[in-house]
Amino acid sequence: MTPFAPAVYADRRRRAAAQAAAAGLAGVLVTPGPDLRYFLGYTPAADTERLTLLAIPASDDGGSDAVAVVPKLEAHDLEVGAVGGIEAVTWSDGEDEHEVAGRLLRPDGRYAISDAAWALHVLGLQRALPASSYAAVTNALPMLRAAKSPEEVARLAAAGAGADAVFAEIVTRRFAGRAEREVSDDLDALLRSHGHEQVDFTLVCAGENGADPHHEAGDRVIREGDMVVMDFGGLADGYGSDTTRTVHVGAPTAREQEVHDVVRAAQQAGVDAVRPGATCQDVDRASRTVIADAGFGEFFVHRTGHGIGLTTHEPPYMVEGESTPIEAGMCFSVEPGIYLPGEFGVRIEDIVVAFPAGVPGLADTPDAGVRLNTSPHEVVVVE
Ligand code: ZN
Ligand code: ZN
Ligand code: ZN
Repeated sequence: MTPFAPAVYADRRRRAAAQAAAAGLAGVLVTPGPDLRYFLGYTPAADTERLTLLAIPASDDGGSDAVAVVPKLEAHDLEVGAVGGIEAVTWSDGEDEHEVAGRLLRPDGRYAISDAAWALHVLGLQRALPASSYAAVTNALPMLRAAKSPEEVARLAAAGAGADAVFAEIVTRRFAGRAEREVSDDLDALLRSHGHEQVDFTLVCAGENGADPHHEAGDRVIREGDMVVMDFGGLADGYGSDTTRTVHVGAPTAREQEVHDVVRAAQQAGVDAVRPGATCQDVDRASRTVIADAGFGEFFVHRTGHGIGLTTHEPPYMVEGESTPIEAGMCFSVEPGIYLPGEFGVRIEDIVVAFPAGVPGLADTPDAGVRLNTSPHEVVVVE
């Protein structure tokens, strides 16, 4: 992905240091993956058993003396990929890398550590510093990457536009007579041709398979009369897309149209719930109420949405019990669905940014959410 300016990463580390201090943590420990890309703009050539760790000590005065612990044989990569200003401590094969890292940490500190940190390393740090303790970032500091900067929103918008172009193209192709897997392969190729360097999922769920929200495309041949749920996305220039539309092969029945209308209204209600002062669970409640009022409540079997950024699924979650207020720059999906076992399913999903300001190409909208997907919401009829 195209790196941001060095100051962007330094600012993110300062905010993390302040959030850690406010949460009573000794700091944030970052391992390879989206967190390391976020705080250092660095991805090791391979995420192996060798420890790479960025330690951001808690600080409430804005000072940040983050230090990276890297395998000596990868130190060159870090210099090439790094954005500057980070002290790096190297360790060599044969050394105890957890002792090396432990010397940089508070012996009795409680640290937030990346969700995807290898257990090998969490346990190694625990052994090196028996009085220290660790919590997953998602539990200790769930909103660390949740509010996106204008530059990040612009990348998410570009990824969304790419996904919308994929939808516009796929509905011009033939569905009837082809297996789900063939349409899924088309979606994969189209995502790559529309700027995605990574494809995370290309679900194609025809007819009764649509009643399974995470059905994997298979050999089922699509027929005239099928509802077809398509949910696809991945990463474009490092940032995620994720959109769902439900199309119909030929004209839908009155019942199919009714169910689609309910989901469409529920999706609109979820987007409309993004208002100053609203919480994440308000979005879920708004969508769920529409579906329940229409008599389909028991068939909406998942949360309404999830955050998106350097990954396609991350906090904040639009789910009952998530009382975090929606903040400017949060980007998340609104994706209600109705799943009728043995019949069909309908889901409609857009990525929404809350209260965007200063995003190139997006009007400042201080009091509402703005969709980053603009594919049509009505049932698109395919052949
Ligand atoms: Zn049908
Ligand atoms: Zn999706
Ligand atoms: Zn999603």
